[in-house]
Amino acid sequence: MARCTERISLASYAQRVEDSLGRRYPEPAHPYRNDYERDRDRIIHARAFRRLENKTQVFSRRYSDHFRNRLTHTLEVAQISRTVARALRLNTDLVEALALVHDVGHPPFGHAGEAVLDRLMRQHGDRFDHNLHALRVVERFEQRYIAFPGLNLTFEVREGIIKHSRDYDPASYPELAEYRLEERPPLEAQLIDVADEIAYNCADLDDGYESRLLTLDLIRRSVPCFERWYARVDHNWPAAPEKLKFNEALKALLNALVTDLIETTRRRLRRLRFRSPHQVREYPKRVVGLSPKMARENSALKAFLYRRLYSHREVDAERKRIIRSIEELFAYFMANPRSLPPFYYAQVQQEPVHRIVCDYIAGMTDNYVQQQHRRFCL
Ligand code: MG
Repeated sequence: MARCTERISLASYAQRVEDSLGRRYPEPAHPYRNDYERDRDRIIHARAFRRLENKTQVFSRRYSDHFRNRLTHTLEVAQISRTVARALRLNTDLVEALALVHDVGHPPFGHAGEAVLDRLMRQHGDRFDHNLHALRVVERFEQRYIAFPGLNLTFEVREGIIKHSRDYDPASYPELAEYRLEERPPLEAQLIDVADEIAYNCADLDDGYESRLLTLDLIRRSVPCFERWYARVDHNWPAAPEKLKFNEALKALLNALVTDLIETTRRRLRRLRFRSPHQVREYPKRVVGLSPKMARENSALKAFLYRRLYSHREVDAERKRIIRSIEELFAYFMANPRSLPPFYYAQVQQEPVHRIVCDYIAGMTDNYVQQQHRRFCL
């Protein structure tokens, strides 16, 4: 019955679960949940998903216990993505699975952790890429089933993990050939990247203001799309507390971005008249996106956050400490691979040590990096 309703309500360009290319290891169907719903549930039960709670988004726990971490950020992305998917009649089960899994490849300590791992890997002629790492997590490092390694997710979820935020050149990544690198991903995966950016821009503005690293005055002067909404709220409620006016303006900005995303994408889809997800794949460009005006405003907000928040002196001082810890830990395990847990050490036979050390550190939570650093490097 549920599947029947889905078939009627999904748009012609949506990815249908019955058209899935399926799992690497075939499994019998479940009587109550379709394959994308099962993937969503497997992701929620995964260890890498639970670890998101102790991974920094922008602010580490040192600042506050109610700022976003990667888990709450992930839930915000899922909620925005679901709204957009339903409005466009896309497959909300697939979207939910993709949103919940989109950050499981992120190392500890946010962007600083990612940048230092990539730099360390380049010294060995290699790279760190969080999307490719996420694929390794769900394919290998999650050990939950007797019959197969990893979570045995459907093709579309694995494909979305790699392709949601960027395209990969097929010639440079022959090992990813099965993921049809020359094609665009389904709309459900395209959506995640934009929802991610909307979610973190708005959330970082919120936490930046709350941390007092950004003042209201600075935000109003530097971010025109925020100022427009704030001026309106201020006009209607001049005597309201500043914090609540800030909140109302931020809420209106988030709503304006998501509404623009829905309406712009809908207009493009009407013009393009895709009759199947196959046509989405064949189309040379990604279709899900903001209008040019809103995209410009969103980029200006992002640039402001880079300039004034992510490179803020206080955030930067912490970043330097973290980078040193990760560098020292990396050097320690490179010199002492036998200190790796047995599961990781066993992989050193098949892959270079730097790759396994990188995998191990990337999987750690913020706390665990500090704990391991104290144990091995101090
Ligand atoms: Mg994200």
